[in-house]
Amino acid sequence: MEKRKLYMETYGCQMNFSDSQIVGSIMTDHEFEITENIADADLIFVNTCSIREHAEQRIRARLREFKRYKKINPGLKIGLLGCMAERLKEELLEQEQLVDMIVGPDSYRDLPRLLNIAETGQKAVNVILSMDETYADISPIHTKGVSSFISIMRGCENFCSYCVVPFTRGKERSRTPQTIVEEAQRLFNEGVREVTLLGQNVNSYNSEDGTSFAQLLEKVALVNPLLRVRFATSHPKDISNDLIKTIARHTNICKSIHLPVQSGSDRMLKLMNRKYTREWYLEKINTIKRIIPDCALSTDIIAGFSSESEEDHIETMELMKMVGYDYAFMFKYSERPNTLAAKKYKDDIDEEVKGRRLQEIIDLQQELSYQSNLKDIGKTFEVLVENISKKSKEEMSGRNSQNKVVVFPAQHHKQGDYVQVEVISCTTATLRGKVVN
Ligand code: SF4
Repeated sequence: MEKRKLYMETYGCQMNFSDSQIVGSIMTDHEFEITENIADADLIFVNTCSIREHAEQRIRARLREFKRYKKINPGLKIGLLGCMAERLKEELLEQEQLVDMIVGPDSYRDLPRLLNIAETGQKAVNVILSMDETYADISPIHTKGVSSFISIMRGCENFCSYCVVPFTRGKERSRTPQTIVEEAQRLFNEGVREVTLLGQNVNSYNSEDGTSFAQLLEKVALVNPLLRVRFATSHPKDISNDLIKTIARHTNICKSIHLPVQSGSDRMLKLMNRKYTREWYLEKINTIKRIIPDCALSTDIIAGFSSESEEDHIETMELMKMVGYDYAFMFKYSERPNTLAAKKYKDDIDEEVKGRRLQEIIDLQQELSYQSNLKDIGKTFEVLVENISKKSKEEMSGRNSQNKVVVFPAQHHKQGDYVQVEVISCTTATLRGKVVN
């Protein structure tokens, strides 16, 4: 029987991209094959994000573009997956008539059954959050490239006041270390040379046998010295000295830590329910710098949270300078319905002020990133070769342990090779060099 074609689009965080690989695996086990060509699709899945209003608007605009494919192929079914599906549930079916299926992040095993319902012409919904679903027994389809995600846990219970994730992804639950180490070994055997351990908050990884995140990281690093290990995302309140020492102990655990601070003001951190203070955060940063001097540091920053004063904003900028971040993800505060912040605080910072503060933060970070790259000129880094450079076929690109993009002459190097690159020049976003091994 000819396989039917599934076309998928994924929005949002790395967790969503990892989930789409699980969805792909489930559907290819049910007589589907993945197509990159939307016009060929019998089924379209959109894995959605709900972190900011803008993310949801993008999905709605995209749905309007799908109208013509349904006209061409009336049998085409469309499913919305992920956090927007979980946040809005049945309401989305009323708002978006084109959609046939609404499926939350914990209900992907149910996709084949829901599709059968949708094919009878009824709408199909499953948005039940689970206490124990981790999809640990499902081998995600690994598309291409030398890097891959491994989701080690799901859910988040931190309830930062601005965040929808605890409502759309539910309670925290961790996979067993065995299934994670087996997946890392399988990926290594398939040619993958870098894995990123994923979770909303990997530091609260806590498997039934009591394995801590630091111990898990070590187990994965011991799979093979040629397998690089990264992880995202950490909540500062859970980063342990044991974890920092484990990273320092293994050359194949990458020297880059993403530690979202969100604000440099204690008053804001309290309102955000981040559970640490500025001083405590800076103490952790100093511990990282002391134990892993060449560690790259990145973060997330929110500009314009409820009642943020100019002084609070300046404290954020000052903290950024003190840490000297290598890069950052920076956003304007976007109020999310039903979050603690939406219930308790006013979204009272004018959009223009939010935009101006965000731009100041971005400009500062550009400068910090450039200064960080300038310091790398003359240094030699081990780079994992990933791709032909976007700009020139004569060049290849990869990343060093600090997660910085490095471009160098291609010569005979190929994807998956490790090369020693001496840095000759840089821009804000890229290091350029020559291979010296
Ligand atoms: S740690 Fe906070 S910001 Fe991150 S996913 Fe959990 S609730 Fe959201």
